[in-house]
Amino acid sequence: MAGTDDAERALRDALAVSPENVPLRLHLADTLLRSGRPGDAEAEYREALSRAPANTNAQAGLAAAFFQQGRFGEAIVVVEALLDQAPHAGALVLHARLLLAEGREADAATAYLAALELDGEERDPDLDARLQHLFPPTEPEDAEQAEPVGVHVGVPADDFDLEIDRPSETFADVGGMERIKEEIRIKIIHPLEHEELYRAYGKAIGGGILLYGPPGCGKTHLARATAGEISASFLAVGLSDVLDMWLGNSEKRLHAIFDQARRRAPCVLFFDEVDALGASRSSFQSAGGGRNVVNQFLAELDGVQDRNDGVLVLAATNTPWHVDSAFRRPGRFDRVLFVPPPDEEARAAILRILVQGKPVDDIDFAHVARKTEGFSGADLRAVVDVAVEDKIRSAMRDGVPRPLGTKDLAAAAKSVKTSTHEWFATARNYALHANEGGAYDDILTYLRLR
Ligand code: ADP
Repeated sequence: MAGTDDAERALRDALAVSPENVPLRLHLADTLLRSGRPGDAEAEYREALSRAPANTNAQAGLAAAFFQQGRFGEAIVVVEALLDQAPHAGALVLHARLLLAEGREADAATAYLAALELDGEERDPDLDARLQHLFPPTEPEDAEQAEPVGVHVGVPADDFDLEIDRPSETFADVGGMERIKEEIRIKIIHPLEHEELYRAYGKAIGGGILLYGPPGCGKTHLARATAGEISASFLAVGLSDVLDMWLGNSEKRLHAIFDQARRRAPCVLFFDEVDALGASRSSFQSAGGGRNVVNQFLAELDGVQDRNDGVLVLAATNTPWHVDSAFRRPGRFDRVLFVPPPDEEARAAILRILVQGKPVDDIDFAHVARKTEGFSGADLRAVVDVAVEDKIRSAMRDGVPRPLGTKDLAAAAKSVKTSTHEWFATARNYALHANEGGAYDDILTYLRLR
């Protein structure tokens, strides 16, 4: 199925740049499982578990992958261990199937009923048919009544509040990036501060800015600083805060998140890894869940039901080519800005910030900045870490602690590999071959291909 292939490729590309992203990996694993590739799914669930051993969705997924491969013994071990820790609707359904396979009908029925009580959407036609003689057959109306049960499980939407921050950093703490700061000022800060003026001239307010670029280059930092710049609250939303595939209440969560931002206006609402919301649309087309999430997101963004006064929406992605094109319509993310690796000035600024509070000599930041071309903010942090570790090691050896100097940083820079090359290898291809409407001209300019 072409749709599934595309979704798989999108997810794998996204994982190549953020391999530690467990929710994303679970999406991939679930997609593989659904398209009848339990062996491949198993590998991804295992990888997810190696990073997040306590993740119940990963455990349930692994059990389901075993089950699909006919490895019932392994499946039951994983399911029972999981259910010992916490109730889990998907795992209970699987448990019911396993118990039924062992001929333990009554136990299977108990597990299945527990699953439905947790989440009415877990209804399984096969189990319904095979267990119906043990409990009354379900009328269609009953099925409808069962649905709200699932909605209340897990995190009830009304109580679902994310942590709100009031960042103290401002644009002054963001090195370089002058053009991007200016765009943010014009597109979202000025309309917020001079709303009446904009309305008087019939100028539309709303929509957001999508920031894209290699990982670790300051997208999140810039979003926080935007909030600090106008003394607004800051609400950061990760993929795992939104997606709740087992219970199907992602839409409610999204609505609750936007509501929280509206209540706390002025507020910068920042969506990280927004591409994955789009990727979920293609991978879950058959299940329908992903499309609903995207549509809900767009409706919230458009302010269909509630106005987004005082809410500034910023989103970030490392893989803009996977962002759902519906996101880019006017009034949505109609500004798409490239956040390149920090330039020399920004690198010096970042280094200065990173060594704050450490014992330092008179460091020549400009010199170190020149030696770290192509380094991301995260790479620079690695440089400082390596230099500090070296210092500690030699202090232990000589018994004399010495301050960090220019030479230490320059030496450490040689041992750290920049992480942005890999991203540009992929980005270059999209910029050269899929540059519709000049969407990636900035990448070409950065790579001096234009
Ligand atoms: P991204 O969101 O693009 O993956 P981050 O915003 O998390 O990257 O940046 C990684 C680190 O680098 C952050 O700790 C941030 O403080 C620092 N950093 C990146 N760019 C800058 C910049 N221009 N000025 C100051 N610090 C920066």
